[in-house]
Formats: sequence, structure tokens, C-alpha cells
Amino acid sequence: MEEKIYIIGHKNPDTDSICSAIAYAELKKKQGDKREIIPARSGDINDETGFILKKFNIDPPSLLKDATGKKIILVDHSEPKQRPENSDKGEIIEVIDHHNINFQQATPILFHAEPLGSTSTIIARMYFEKNIDIEKGIAGILLGAIISDTVIFRSPITTQEDKDIAQKLKPIAEVDDLEAFGIEMFKAKSNWKEKSAHDIINTDYKEYELGGKNIGISQIETVDTSNLKERKDEFIEIMEHMSKERNLDTIIVLLTDIIKEGCLAFISGNSLEQIGKTFGKEIKDNEIYLPGVLSRKKQIVPPLEKAFSQ
Ligand code: MG
Ligand code: MG
Ligand code: MG
Repeated sequence: MEEKIYIIGHKNPDTDSICSAIAYAELKKKQGDKREIIPARSGDINDETGFILKKFNIDPPSLLKDATGKKIILVDHSEPKQRPENSDKGEIIEVIDHHNINFQQATPILFHAEPLGSTSTIIARMYFEKNIDIEKGIAGILLGAIISDTVIFRSPITTQEDKDIAQKLKPIAEVDDLEAFGIEMFKAKSNWKEKSAHDIINTDYKEYELGGKNIGISQIETVDTSNLKERKDEFIEIMEHMSKERNLDTIIVLLTDIIKEGCLAFISGNSLEQIGKTFGKEIKDNEIYLPGVLSRKKQIVPPLEKAFSQ
């Protein structure tokens, strides 16, 4: 029996987690890796990712609910709280990521982390460096993931390399206009009307341990926040419930308007004063507006980590 390896992104997977897993599995196969390499996911696919996979005719990865006894490669995260269930009872054999590093392991592994806009940028570069053919579909989903994570190159996490790699993928994926493709993608996930606040929050929800505090942060990237703003009471109710259930100090929901380039943040929990101070504003009625903020990873998590660690 050949050895099985699962390549998997974070919980509540986003487009980068799904697409980098698929593309990295494909790359390993093309490089002649004889092990059985399986792209996997640890949760439901969001509407944006669904749109991209459909557009490029790529099958979604299979669901891996429990990593017990499994060999896994982590993509797009290293944080223990974001790993698949029971990954401590499996074996992590490799990590490829572009986030803060929260990883400790006794055995040596390949750990590849770079401050780039997406994990898919790293994977695409591996194809180019190794002169391995990229099929249209794989180029398309890698391109989609770069555009998603960098918010169409608007997010401050964007690097020149993300833009260069996207330009190289563009003709292979047969995409004419990156901006138009990006807006189409973000529109695909802006269909919040039929969704409950619980489902909306959990679409892109991550937990962090910052200075000993458990903080939950959800980010909702959208082309129009107005119909979400109106549902604030519904959001706060779910946030309070999640806080209790998941033992959080604070929960933050970022309504990120990618057109106006800013976040309206709903905040509930014990550390409102400290969080307000961190961003130089008073939190009134559980909300603050943060102009220019598009990136949870670069503009929200590091200042909070600093504030809570003092
Ligand atoms: Mg991600
Ligand atoms: Mg990513
Ligand atoms: Mg994202």
C-alpha cells in the first residue's frame, strides 16, 4: 500500500487554502512523487471558492474531518487553533505558508514561510522555477487565490512578487482582466441575504491566542456592506453566543468593504477599551470604523498581539 499524504489548509477554508492544496498536490504528482497525494479541506467551501473551481472546471478537494493517524502537509496556516481536528494525533510533515508562525515540533520538517500575499504565490513560483507545465485550470485557481488573498492587490500584504506571478498566470489561465475577474469573484461571495449571521461569521473565521487571550476574528469581504450593517443586532447576538461557547475573551467581526477600502468592526467581549485604544478610537455600541484597513493578518492581528502582550 502506498503512503497517503493529505495536503490541507486551515479550518473555515478560504480560496487560498483550497486552491493551494489542489495545486501543490498536482505539483508533487508532476514531480514524480509516487506517494498518494490527496488535496483535502477541513470545512465547507465558500461561495467565492465554489465560483472559481466551477469557472476552471476543477473538482473540490475531499473533506478530511479528523487527522488522527494521518500524514499531513499544512498549507496557508501553521497556527494550532486553525489546523484540522486531531492533527496533534497525526503527523505534520511539511508546512507552506504566508502567515504569522505559531509552530513547534520535535522532528525536523520542511517549513516554508514567506511574507507574500498568498500561499498560492509560493506554489505558482515553484511551478515556474522548476519549469513544470501549469494547466489552464491550475493557473486559474492559483490566480483566483492570489487575487482573493490580496483583495485584488489592494491589501497592504500585496508584494511585487504577487503581482508578477499573477501576470505570468494570467495568459495561461486565459483571464483578460484581473480587476474584472476579481470583482466577479468578490460578488460571488457577497450574496449574504439568504445566509444566517452565524453562517456569515463562520465563512472566514479564525481564532488566535494573543498575549494569553483567546480572540476570534471573522472577516467578511464584500463589495457592499450596507445590508450587513443593518443586521448588527443579529450579529452581536451570535457573537456573544460564540464567545461563551468557545471561551473567547473577545470576538471581532470585520465587515470589509473592498470598494471603499475600510472595515466596519463589530466587537463584543472583555477588552473593548484596550482594543479601542489600540486603534486610536472609542468603541461605541460595539462598533468602530477602521478606514484603510483591509488585512486582518497585517493590520488587525499584529497590533492586537502587541497590545495584549504588554
Ligand atoms: Mg487563508
Ligand atoms: Mg492565504
Ligand atoms: Mg482572505
